[in-house]
Amino acid sequence: MPDKLRVRFAPSPSGYLHTGGARTALFNYLWAKGQGGSFILRVEDTDEERSTEESMRAIISGLQWLGLDWDEGPDPGEFGASIGPHAPYYQSMRRPLHQQYMQRLWDEDKVFYCPATAEEMTGSDGIKLLFSPYRDISREEQQKRLADGQVMPVRFRCPRDVDVRWEDAVRGEVKISSNEVGDFVLFKGNGAPLYNFVVVCDDIDMQITNVLRGEDHISNTPKQILLHRALGQEPPMFGHVPLIVGMDRQRLSKRHGATAVDAYEEMGVLPEAMVNFLALIGWAPGDDREKMTLAELKTAFDPTRCTKSAGAFNQDKLKHYNELYIRELSADELTERLRPFVPPIWFEHRGEDYARRVFVLQQEKISYLTEMEQNTWYFFRDPLEEDSNEKNVAKFLTGNADAKKVLGEIHDAMESLSDEQWAEERLTLIVEAFVESSGLGRGKVMQPWRVALTGDSISPGFYDLVVTLGRDTVLRRVEEWLKKL
Ligand code: GLU
Repeated sequence: MPDKLRVRFAPSPSGYLHTGGARTALFNYLWAKGQGGSFILRVEDTDEERSTEESMRAIISGLQWLGLDWDEGPDPGEFGASIGPHAPYYQSMRRPLHQQYMQRLWDEDKVFYCPATAEEMTGSDGIKLLFSPYRDISREEQQKRLADGQVMPVRFRCPRDVDVRWEDAVRGEVKISSNEVGDFVLFKGNGAPLYNFVVVCDDIDMQITNVLRGEDHISNTPKQILLHRALGQEPPMFGHVPLIVGMDRQRLSKRHGATAVDAYEEMGVLPEAMVNFLALIGWAPGDDREKMTLAELKTAFDPTRCTKSAGAFNQDKLKHYNELYIRELSADELTERLRPFVPPIWFEHRGEDYARRVFVLQQEKISYLTEMEQNTWYFFRDPLEEDSNEKNVAKFLTGNADAKKVLGEIHDAMESLSDEQWAEERLTLIVEAFVESSGLGRGKVMQPWRVALTGDSISPGFYDLVVTLGRDTVLRRVEEWLKKL
């Protein structure tokens, strides 16, 4: 056994990278990296009917997005290629190795071709038998049937009355009797190898020392331990993390919101927020820290601190983390992160600096990157009547007897300012003078202005808005309204 931790994430590429899978990948990554070990990605694509290239690409890009770089595994640059001393890391390409291990088990008489029909594998009570009535079939008989062309699965001859024990990294000692395991199938009649067999071959070959996975795999673990032993190996250390449930404690499903990680990427969740959020579903560092970077998580992760009961997926928490991480970005980082989420023309409209200034104005106000566009579009084009808020237009402009005066008098005073004088101090003097002379409250003065400038009554601070939009745009938009009032 290698002295450094070797940990793998072994997804079956039959769908997207789901939150549960992403969390398993993250825990494995943290476990390996926290101990200076290796994180290995192995694609379990033996089920040819269900595995798709699209799914594999989605899983690879999901892991890359989260920043969970693997030391060995598929080459992210070239689909189908692998990097690492145990290549290939696509299970479907590892058949010769699986065949070798099968040969060993056959030579040592630890497996048998099982001619039992489905009926023969069913007990009088209608329940499936665990042990085959043919487990003691002679090798001559098996060979004869094979020569006759009989199609038979290969079963593992499971030892009876053995306690299979392991020290689970999450649950502590687990013990299951081999009598509850039975003669499980390693190869189907058509020669296709099954999960429990190939996973053990590959874990041995890749020198995996630690296996951390969802507790839905717990019934597979005794089978795998028995196979490791049958192949003369000490099994790796196993750990089983509780599943993720929704806030209603039901198994996580579409009902609870998106289950695929890429949906969160598209929603404008930052990967560092997602990582932080996933890490704290069913695990805690043992102190009161909540906001933790990947680097901090690496040092803190310890599988024994995983909860024993299912962790809940609380989307409000994800939103909260995302807000925290968005607020922390520098203006440049924020702009870069937003680039895929806003129209490219925005950066050309008045240049990068202008876009950056606008984004910073709203940095504190968005929960997801996708919200930036709807919060700031009016910085990049004049609001037309149809994209203005009808109710507020009526309330503050068309149906407001003071509107003409509020817009007109302030406009005329502002017009006398040059571009250089167009700053908060001078603008404040103008607005305050009007507030004083008109006797109208500040809200009654500023709201018509906001609606005229943005199409709505919510916007950043009044002076931030007027200063950032700039003299020409402000005067133009107000003049348009003055013509209509
Ligand atoms: N391919 C299996 C899955 O996606 C891997 C389970 C394991 O980690 O052994 O569920």
